[in-house]
Amino acid sequence: MSFRPTWAEVSLGALRQNFRAIRKHIGEGPQICAVVKADAYGHGIVECARVLEAESAGWFGVTSTDEGILLREAGIRGRILLMTGFWHGDQEDVIRYHLTPAMWEPWQIELLEEAARQAGASKFPVHIKVDTGMTRLGVSTTDLPALCERLANSRELTVEGIFSHLASAEVLDAEDATQQIAEFERVLENLGNLKISPNLIHMANSAAIVARPGTWKNMVRPGLALYGYCTPIRGGRGREGGTAGLELKPVLSWKTRVLSLRDVCEGRAVGYNATYITHGPARLAVLPVGYADGLDRQLSSRGRVLIRGQYAPIVGIVSMDLTIVDVSGIAGVEVGDEVTILGKSEGANINAWEYARLCATIPYEVLCRISKRVPRRYVE
Ligand SMILES: *Cc1c(COP(=O)(O)O)cnc(C)c1O
Repeated sequence: MSFRPTWAEVSLGALRQNFRAIRKHIGEGPQICAVVKADAYGHGIVECARVLEAESAGWFGVTSTDEGILLREAGIRGRILLMTGFWHGDQEDVIRYHLTPAMWEPWQIELLEEAARQAGASKFPVHIKVDTGMTRLGVSTTDLPALCERLANSRELTVEGIFSHLASAEVLDAEDATQQIAEFERVLENLGNLKISPNLIHMANSAAIVARPGTWKNMVRPGLALYGYCTPIRGGRGREGGTAGLELKPVLSWKTRVLSLRDVCEGRAVGYNATYITHGPARLAVLPVGYADGLDRQLSSRGRVLIRGQYAPIVGIVSMDLTIVDVSGIAGVEVGDEVTILGKSEGANINAWEYARLCATIPYEVLCRISKRVPRRYVE
């Protein structure tokens, strides 16, 4: 038990609201595969999956067998998609815990068939991952017929789904996205010749859910949108930055408290390497949060936090465990005051986009880099 007052507040109410907003946006047709990989983007995989399952998410998208097992052991009964397949040695657990792997290579079929035979399983469902142009994972459209042939003749396995992933879902006029979608459509038109008849066809991540209804098919895979963010849609003439009416609310707030306060005179060097010198007399607050908690060092003398509804700039270099902010302009700051690193405070707000831009990254990375040392507290 740690009393170090640095924590992340995860609003299960906001998560629920975002799920409902997505459901409303796509209508009752497509199923929702809630992407909870990477510990639900840092929000806590088990707690989030429980809430989403109660909201009737039928599927969960995870990265590894471990994450799938964690969900099963927590009592999640929905379907679990291993979006990056499984590792050599995981195949028995895939069967035992009834996880549904993405497949794209013959060796995966051999291993899983063998494990299914040993477990006495037949027609164990798998999803084929097709590389339509992102060049990451998936079977090429050239190798797809042979893979399908192999699976069509399998007694142990059956193709329940086929899917692909877009590289530029949020860029409406991106040539690569147009080509990927066309390539996937060609695959779908040709399913009859491939001798497989998958029930589930899926392609859309959050940005495609917002802006590309044609990719929804009969299942969508939202990740970031569930947690209350979306990549701004670009290249759509008149739809810049829009979310097509999808209203999302950030789920995570990151907080700490003032550990120490001091008044210093003009010309004081602050923090490692004396990179910041006070311009005048200043009141500085030391916060018990640093890069070991996931507070990016690029925020040194660039980021800001909220105290009593007002912005306090980070001064000097972010240390491993500590960060210094200038609270000169904020009246009445005391040791123990709550500090908002991400989130709202009395109407003022710092969101993961602001933070991400300062660090040349994206909200995904900001959220999932908040380290294990920061306890997650669940609130409505
Ligand atoms: C992470 C991931 C998603 C979710 O993407 P978001 O942009 O967070 O909605 C969907 N599909 C696959 C294959 C992924 O890896």
